[in-house]
Amino acid sequence: MASKKLDPHASLLTNPELLSKIDQLRENNVGQHVPLPQLVVVGDQSSGKSSLLESLTGIPFPRNLELCTRYATQITSRRDRDAKVDVSIIPGPNASDQHKGQLRKYHPPGMSPDEFRAKFPQILEEVNKIMGIRMNTSDTGGSVFSEDVLKIEISGPTEDYLTLIDVPGIFRTPTEGLTTKQDVALVRRMVQGYMKDSRTVILAVLPSNVDPATQEILTMAEEYDKQGERTLGVFTKPDLVTENSAKLAACNVVLGKKRPLALGYYVVRNRGPDENDEFDKGSAEGMFSENPWNSLPKDRVGIRALRTCLGQLLGHIAQRELPAMRKDIRMQLAQCSQELNSLGAPRQSENEQRAYLFSLSRQFHDLVQNALETQYNRHAVFSQQKFRLATNVANLTNAFNNDFATKSHMYYFEGEKPIPKNKVVGEKTDGQSGGKLGNPSTTTAAQKPYDGGWHDVDGQSLFLDGIIGEKPCIELPKLGIINWIQKLHVESRGLGLGTFDNALISNVFREQSEKWNAMTMGFLSETIVMIHRFIYGALFELCANTRVRENIWSSIADEVRNRYNAAMEHAAFLVSIERGQNPYTLNHYFNENLQKSRGDRIAELLEGNVRYETPYGKTAMVVVNLEDVRAATSNKSNMQQSIEDVHDSLCAFYKVSTKRFVDTVYQQVVQGLLLTGPKSPLAVFDQDWVLSLGAGELEMIAGELVAVKEQRTVLQKKMKDLEVAMQILKK
Ligand code: GDP
Ligand code: MG
Repeated sequence: MASKKLDPHASLLTNPELLSKIDQLRENNVGQHVPLPQLVVVGDQSSGKSSLLESLTGIPFPRNLELCTRYATQITSRRDRDAKVDVSIIPGPNASDQHKGQLRKYHPPGMSPDEFRAKFPQILEEVNKIMGIRMNTSDTGGSVFSEDVLKIEISGPTEDYLTLIDVPGIFRTPTEGLTTKQDVALVRRMVQGYMKDSRTVILAVLPSNVDPATQEILTMAEEYDKQGERTLGVFTKPDLVTENSAKLAACNVVLGKKRPLALGYYVVRNRGPDENDEFDKGSAEGMFSENPWNSLPKDRVGIRALRTCLGQLLGHIAQRELPAMRKDIRMQLAQCSQELNSLGAPRQSENEQRAYLFSLSRQFHDLVQNALETQYNRHAVFSQQKFRLATNVANLTNAFNNDFATKSHMYYFEGEKPIPKNKVVGEKTDGQSGGKLGNPSTTTAAQKPYDGGWHDVDGQSLFLDGIIGEKPCIELPKLGIINWIQKLHVESRGLGLGTFDNALISNVFREQSEKWNAMTMGFLSETIVMIHRFIYGALFELCANTRVRENIWSSIADEVRNRYNAAMEHAAFLVSIERGQNPYTLNHYFNENLQKSRGDRIAELLEGNVRYETPYGKTAMVVVNLEDVRAATSNKSNMQQSIEDVHDSLCAFYKVSTKRFVDTVYQQVVQGLLLTGPKSPLAVFDQDWVLSLGAGELEMIAGELVAVKEQRTVLQKKMKDLEVAMQILKK
């Protein structure tokens, strides 16, 4: 029996230092997070629990039979120079905020032990009221039991480190008009909650006049304390047992002859209902020297023996549980810090909110820089294609450039090889599919550049209507350019000498470049979609807090859209000056191209009249008769000459013009307005934007919800408590 290990003559403070540490933990609220060694007094209603507490602590609990215990009371005594009693209420786990607030307000000033004893009945009355306890069947409202805990802290030079908890007695049948089945269950749950805890010593209180074999409380204790290493049986009311056989039966139990408990039983005599404050514990305990009680070992009878045992048992449990408590505290610290981390940096003050957004915008800026410089190894997000902005835009621009060279004109130029119809299925040669095209792509997946989809980001609308257009459907150039020029020429020729005029060239160029606007807007729309997806995706990756993210997004979105709009407008301007004015260029390639086509035409005419001669000792040469040259050029009609001239000028100019246009669109719109530069939509969420926010906007965008603030405060407080706990246990 473990009881053998307990020395009845030792001081209660077998391990005062350790118990003092446990007490310090309790004082620093550690008990709220980690169970601490303590004693709980359990038993049936009226079995004498409160009376036992009174005997152990000297606190005069009311013994009015009607006033059974309605809530748990935690009595903590500790050794201190000054004698003092403090009273407070710990809210139950399910208390409402309002109720909690009320309970926290209750703090009677510290009292001397004598003052406290005198005031105790009044204090209990106040506590009942504050907890909202319904005392009688005549009371209306309130509940009969409460999960709130009354906390009484006693310090004094002769006090021992002891924490005892008095809980309501378990009962089985509801009292009509007062208690309900729910109350029965609630009390049972409360009692079990305490009994479960491996650091709690269970004092199972049994009246001496009942057969312990029938006591449910022992069965319950066995259930939670399988080894029986923390359950003590305490017999009360031995003075009320009158029959000798009943006394003998009780003694037999204490002697371990019946229903033994590993830690054994004690017999104590408490104050009866009719005994007043003058009740003399010493003389009352005189009964233990009478037959048959005197057959019991002295260390098993009387309150002092029990106190000694409790002190030792508590010290023993504290010692045994110390490593587990340290581990518990460490684990909870780690969990706490993880939870705090997941809440992110605190965003309560204006400064904290600004710093938080600053940090986000810097990260965003870095991501943009890396994306534009193809530094894809610098961040994990670049494993997703949509973040590889430079590459995606380069692919798209490339395709645009190719399209422009091969399809932007309405008519194939003479000598140009038409694109075979069966090879081209989309309006683009880059293999982009989807959208309005509805045609399968001929290019392979490997060549396929980023397909950003169109009007949505991860299923959400981009809200870019009115800024970007639909995917254009670009047709291939047509054949028959000469006939077409001739028709225009006939329709518009003047009375001149037959050579073409600039107005005709202007008209022809305008019609030939008819598709430019649609193609350019399509290309830029697609670029904008890529950028938009990038911005949204980057915010998503960088800011885990949905609310903050949505707030940032909605406050930058308008400006982002304005910048897309500005880029589109600039592109429209570029198209209009390229197409709307008289064809003009300083580029020398124009003349070179033009002269080359004229030369080619003459050479073509003469091709049938050439001779091949190889003079002795020289290499072979092509020889043309000068008369043939004259005939070839003079045989042409004025009309034919004019049309050829128009065609050749148009062709020469078109080449130069498309190159210039595509370059300008890329340089000014894509580079200058969309990707880089101060007016880029990628630069809206920058540090200047954060600086421009006022206190109200900061709170609205980055402020924390009250619940998060509270959660952080609770976690921070818990961390502090646990850190203090680690310090206490290290010493
Ligand atoms: P609880 O409901 O378990 O807290 O029981 P109480 O401590 O309120 O005790 C119920 C009644 O039994 C009270 O009137 C006490 O005075 C009385 N009582 C408790 N212990 C003893 C005892 O050892 N001797 C006598 N005569 N009465 C006792
Ligand atoms: Mg009681």
